[in-house]
Amino acid sequence: MSVVSSVCCYCGTGCGVLIESAAGRIAGVRGNPAHPANRGKLCTKGATLALSAQAGGRLLRPELRSTRAALRAPVDWNHALDHAARRFREIIAEHGPDAVAFYVSGQLTTEAYYVFNKLAKGLIGTNNIDTNSRLCMSSAVAGYKATLGADAPPGCYDDIECAATIFIAGSNTAYAHPVLFRRIEAARRANPDLKLVVVDPRRTDTAAEADLHLAILPGTDVALFHAMLNVMLWEDLLDRDYIAAHTEGWSALRDLVREYTPERVAAICGVAADDIVTAARWFAAGPTLSLYCQGLNQSTCGVDKNGALINLHLATGQIGKPGAAPLSLTGQPNAMGGREVGAMANLLSAHRDMRDPVHRAEVARLWGVPSVPDRPGKTAIELFDALREGTIKAVWIACTNPAQSLPNQARVVEALRAAQFVVLQEAFAGTETAAFADLLLPAATWGEQSGTVTNSERYISKVNAAVAPPGEARPDWQIVVDFARRLDPQQGPRLFPYTCAEAIFDEHRESTRGRDLDITGISYALLDRAPQQWPFPEGALAGKRRLYDDGAFPTASGRARFHATPYRPVAEATDARYPLHLNTGRLRDQWHGMSRTGLVARLYAHVDTPWLGMSVADMARRKLRDGDLVRIKSRRGSLIVKVRASDELRTGQVFLPMHWGSRFMAGPGVNGLTLGAVDPLSGQPELKHAAIQVERVDLPYRRVLVRVGEGAALLERAREFFHHFDYATATLTGRERSVLVFEAASPGPLPEALVQAMDAAFGLDDPVSTMSYQDARRGVWKKALVENGIVTGARLSGETAAGEWLKQMIASAAPALEVREWILAPVARPPAGRRERGRIVCNCLDVAEDEIVAAVAGGADLTALQRTLKCGTECGSCVPELKRLLAVHRKAA
Ligand code: SF4
Repeated sequence: MSVVSSVCCYCGTGCGVLIESAAGRIAGVRGNPAHPANRGKLCTKGATLALSAQAGGRLLRPELRSTRAALRAPVDWNHALDHAARRFREIIAEHGPDAVAFYVSGQLTTEAYYVFNKLAKGLIGTNNIDTNSRLCMSSAVAGYKATLGADAPPGCYDDIECAATIFIAGSNTAYAHPVLFRRIEAARRANPDLKLVVVDPRRTDTAAEADLHLAILPGTDVALFHAMLNVMLWEDLLDRDYIAAHTEGWSALRDLVREYTPERVAAICGVAADDIVTAARWFAAGPTLSLYCQGLNQSTCGVDKNGALINLHLATGQIGKPGAAPLSLTGQPNAMGGREVGAMANLLSAHRDMRDPVHRAEVARLWGVPSVPDRPGKTAIELFDALREGTIKAVWIACTNPAQSLPNQARVVEALRAAQFVVLQEAFAGTETAAFADLLLPAATWGEQSGTVTNSERYISKVNAAVAPPGEARPDWQIVVDFARRLDPQQGPRLFPYTCAEAIFDEHRESTRGRDLDITGISYALLDRAPQQWPFPEGALAGKRRLYDDGAFPTASGRARFHATPYRPVAEATDARYPLHLNTGRLRDQWHGMSRTGLVARLYAHVDTPWLGMSVADMARRKLRDGDLVRIKSRRGSLIVKVRASDELRTGQVFLPMHWGSRFMAGPGVNGLTLGAVDPLSGQPELKHAAIQVERVDLPYRRVLVRVGEGAALLERAREFFHHFDYATATLTGRERSVLVFEAASPGPLPEALVQAMDAAFGLDDPVSTMSYQDARRGVWKKALVENGIVTGARLSGETAAGEWLKQMIASAAPALEVREWILAPVARPPAGRRERGRIVCNCLDVAEDEIVAAVAGGADLTALQRTLKCGTECGSCVPELKRLLAVHRKAA
């Protein structure tokens, strides 16, 4: 068994991991106790990385289709890259360099990001390169630059222990950055006076922990922050010396916020004026650490939200001191690295400004090219619009899934269909975007390639390959370098001479010399010893923990700038036709479009299906019950999901997780509903909010199909049948083995040919090993497959009462004898001696909600739950939920 250190490939917390491998296979993953970001801890997603590495579903060979009507066929790498180079050359020759574009990813290493950026801007001469970080971080980038002068998070995680108040805005940290939240919990245990304020329309697990939860109406953050500043003004809670010495633009902001009295803003935000006053007092008393994420960023006024929050820090001098900083949490593992190398349509390397001719000349000199283009490229939404309109003809997509993650999916699909040439460089074969690719290039992924990544607190860590990539997959940077050399046989080899990732890092490092993020003191050798924070210039002994401790900012005047903009509402108001606010967000155990986590069966145990959460009052008004099917409609599209009551939501608001795409459900997925309106400064879309309507759907003919097998392959097979149903989902269940759960509903019985086709596709068509029950009059057809005395598959059509316990029984490999007589019966309760376990709350130790509720009813507190059931004692991700269950069920007892 060999062990290499790396970093978790999910969120921007940037947890260090130790990967154990044997015989070319990743066998285990544990937290790295030496890594400063997590000190050995992992959340459920990080802890199951080894399972995701073993889950299959990988793209193993390049595939090319000669025409849109043809199927893709395997080709060798030389053929694939020569073809790509020829198509790009032809399009550039005919239409110019801006007719091609690159859409890359915060999953890439900094080195891969660097060569993609150089390829677009240095070799081809287009700024048409953007990244999925546009969807999560670009408002934070623009907010930092507008106020502090540079895209540099000023604080660090150590500020958690130094703060007197932690102010979380627009972040369900307990789900999205769980290990960081564990650290907040520990800091609060150590210091009971440490206040937690959470600003979120929903009562999330993060909000439930807060001393003060400001459940503002969606999109009203700017009004809230201005009102807090108003209180600080009235109560003289400002640091006037700091304002005078280190800031500019104060008088304009002061005049603006005079209008934002707590009373007036209470009506805008839907919170009590007294709570606004309390939040302002706690914030001003400090030291205050603000943590914020998509709730601020994914908005048409995301930069204003960032700026208004940073105003509070500047006005109270809460920056550059232990425990005091505005610290944006990055959504992806290397969104920061992409920003550092300038791999976005409006950025240049090492935080240089594309509009500045001196900066452009510096980059051209560093790269050895005559110039870099001065026209800003297309940002993500613009890029796909241009593809749809035909001004961009070819797109190269790397390690991201725009056919799931971009808003207004109908337009994205049109764009990908309109493109003349779509290249997808991807590790996983089954993503929604793969269906549109003319050329698929198999990429190495986490655990298979080396490079560097930067986390939310500016720590650069080395990621290392533990095993070789499967099949013919190659590291991302190598694919780019190989393509560049073929695209321009004269300049390509000169500009892309790299033979290893380290050579790319060294060139990137040199580009940062003298810049705010100077890392000329860092090398691979140093990173192999430990992660390092930037800036870390040559000659320094260590990186800088906190920025701006001297009150000097990287602006023309050296002063930070207040951001004085009025509150603007959400882009899409609710009205009589679309009366509900849709809020989107993360689940605890899934990641982005689920291309990796969606292959790990146990990661569905916490939330097994794309539920719409709705308040009890809104459900009652619509006469809905838990599990009913509803159609959600926005101005852009609709989809059918199950609904369930949620005590997290106020009336008038509903919640749908961001993860579900058309790979896992019939219809376009959640982003068929969202809108493409963007922040005018950052170009970031308002993915967090849309106006919608919800109506009951009557689809009485239900169907459940359960089958043991390889998850990735079964999911792919299930997807082929989605279009036959109004409602359908395909997910996984199981712990020791993977079990597909295909649920569907339609207005009436299915055609027999379709039933037979599905049975055949899932191996339920062997009359010798299947038990059957048929009631043609009622349209009820059932089957169960028994192999070696174990039930390994079942299909219930027309009557699905046994579906829930049957799938649990199949997942636990129960002997067929025990349940034979029950399998095909219309019974919702499992056979005697078997129990339905319900939702799993503690994924690490497999503890179900029902077991926890029963223990609480018996008088257990948190300590007793942890002692007896062991839940919450491994990664701790479920502890906030345990507390919530305790609060609810103790009250009920
Ligand atoms: Fe990975 Fe979880 Fe750490 Fe995020 S908090 S980096 S998902 S282990």
